[in-house]
Amino acid sequence: MNFETFNFHPSIMAGVRALGYSIPTPIQSQGIPPIMQGRDVIGLAQTGTGKTAAFALPILQRLQSDSRGHIRALVISPTRELAEQISEVFNDLGSRSGLRSVTIYGGVSMDQQIRNLRAHPEIVVACPGRLLDHLWKGTISLAELEVLVIDEADRMLDMGFLPDIRNILGCILHKHQTLLFSATMPDDIRRLAREILHDPVTVQIGRTLPAKTVSHFLYPVQQHLKTNLLKAILNKTETDSVLVFTRTKHRAERVAQQLVRDGYRVTSLQGNLSQNQRQAALTGFRNGSIKILVATDIAARGIDVLSISHVINYDMPESTDDYIHRIGRTGRVDKNGDALTFVTNDDADKIRALEQLLNAPLERLTLKGFDYNKPAPEREPRFSQQPRRRFVQRQVIGRQMAM
Ligand code: AMP
Repeated sequence: MNFETFNFHPSIMAGVRALGYSIPTPIQSQGIPPIMQGRDVIGLAQTGTGKTAAFALPILQRLQSDSRGHIRALVISPTRELAEQISEVFNDLGSRSGLRSVTIYGGVSMDQQIRNLRAHPEIVVACPGRLLDHLWKGTISLAELEVLVIDEADRMLDMGFLPDIRNILGCILHKHQTLLFSATMPDDIRRLAREILHDPVTVQIGRTLPAKTVSHFLYPVQQHLKTNLLKAILNKTETDSVLVFTRTKHRAERVAQQLVRDGYRVTSLQGNLSQNQRQAALTGFRNGSIKILVATDIAARGIDVLSISHVINYDMPESTDDYIHRIGRTGRVDKNGDALTFVTNDDADKIRALEQLLNAPLERLTLKGFDYNKPAPEREPRFSQQPRRRFVQRQVIGRQMAM
């Protein structure tokens, strides 16, 4: 199958070609036809599968005809970065269509957004909180909305946005098409889907498993040696762009500072940054001037950088869903990527859950020449006050499968 099959308008095909897409990804080949028929669709696909274009292309096709100058498509996204990226996809694919899109999210001036809305865009990509502010202020009207997309619905749930989503849905009472995308289907999302979608078509790309182009490795290590191990791996490994995940904002900041001190081109992406700082970090990472980004789960949501070669989980993710989301940043469409996860003795249950999901034991690696027995510094209260457990380390040279 190729993109000609969909009979898109020439202006949209120009966008497809400009982005260099030649073959539709599975979510595109299966999702685009029912969306073009006007059906409600549940898209079960993780980040990196091409799901944004899977909804953006048929929406652009629909908006190409009929009236202009009012909001006809709304995409709700959990984070500002993802909103910007979705908007970019609409702008790139629709650059010749004359259709306009604006982004709406918190943390930036409301007045500028009101001015943007007065230019009468056809497409709005919004985060739930600020969108509600505009709806309640009367500065946005969804009276003529035709298509609603709820993207990364499971993440919206995790971030506590479900009540906001329900309030937004309460403002769109007329008939419209609804598309709901989610990497996983927790009960609350299944319930929401049952309530708001009419006779939906479900398009599921595999199970919600990480992309096949990703190799997974575990690095058992004591907590206090993680930064040293990270530096040693970065020194010894040929990498392109590296995304490092930590559990907390504070740790993301600290790890980035430690790497900066060692001369790495690195920055952190975490909730303490202003919108401008976040944008600068992402732009630097995208254009390659920053090689390493240290981020928390929420801050990294939706990062779309094609050349991420390695995702390093400095801290084991809380859940298998988070693991899928994190490593969805590497191994994107036909690219290979490595997912390295630092694990401590406390992570045994999480490793088991992950191995169950992947249906295979994960490879445990040790880094040759790395001093795994270095004691924790005495003056570091967090570690020195903890009773030390003996760390069982399989000393293997190179790669070896776990028993
Ligand atoms: P997404 O899952 O929407 O975040 O997309 C992941 C990446 O795949 C983005 O960088 C897209 O530009 C890229 N992509 C989407 N569709 C295609 C396609 N048909 N061929 C090649 N790359 C694509």
